Amino acid sequence: MIEINHVNKWYGPSFQALKDCTTSVAKGEVVVVCGPSGSGKSTLIKCVNALEPIQGGEIILDGVKVNDPKTDLPKLRSRVGMVFQHFELFPHLRIVDNLCLAQEKVLGRKHEDALAKGMKLLERVGLKDHAKKFPAELSGGQQQRVAIARALAMDPIAMLFDEPTSALDPEMISEVLDVMVDLAREGMTMMVVTHEMGFANKVADRVIFMDRGEIVEDAKKADFFGQPRSDRAQKFLSKIL
Ligand code: ATP
Ligand code: MG
Repeated sequence: MIEINHVNKWYGPSFQALKDCTTSVAKGEVVVVCGPSGSGKSTLIKCVNALEPIQGGEIILDGVKVNDPKTDLPKLRSRVGMVFQHFELFPHLRIVDNLCLAQEKVLGRKHEDALAKGMKLLERVGLKDHAKKFPAELSGGQQQRVAIARALAMDPIAMLFDEPTSALDPEMISEVLDVMVDLAREGMTMMVVTHEMGFANKVADRVIFMDRGEIVEDAKKADFFGQPRSDRAQKFLSKIL
């Protein structure tokens, strides 16, 4: 579903943020990406839906080459759900309108259909009663669940998450992780940057560890947590576990 082949990325002429990165995410697979701050996790995930250009290698999403000038990027991005650290809901729109906007404007769905889909997803993330509220009236965890519902409303072929719980108060983290665990168990293809190793342990198929722009480890979950691995990954894990 997502193929990342020998990707090199520079910011400016002299800083290489991704160094010959190769990995893949198969349909239905859940891959967790972890690593120290500045190691290139966000950069990697942004390159997948071309929010950042790459200078070498290739990324293929569901058979479509992302870094090809002929690729219709808005269309490609509309097919991949993205959830960031800071829930980027439209503050001036009610929750229900946040859920309907892109469905109508990008996919051309009729309002009734978008509304039905949006309400179903709100129910799924446990927030049906909050449809008429504005984002600021919801807690951080609730807003993040709306952000996930909004991404799902587009019927994405894959979901990308970049530290979706790291800006949340501890008591709100699990309510967001629970939604992500359900999604993973339903077979969604997911690439998730997170340091929540409990989440990784529950649902990840593979764990990628990055350091200084390189993919240092790319292993099945059991191998990553259970067997000897690179010093760098070991040191990192000992700090966060
Ligand atoms: P964190 O855990 O702090 O989120 P990260 O692993 O996501 O870190 P990235 O945000 O991908 O790391 O950044 C990788 C490197 O690229 C860092 O050294 C960062 O300073 C640099 N970088 C990121 N974005 C830019 C940018 N727009 N311009 C220049 N350098 C950047
Ligand atoms: Mg980051």
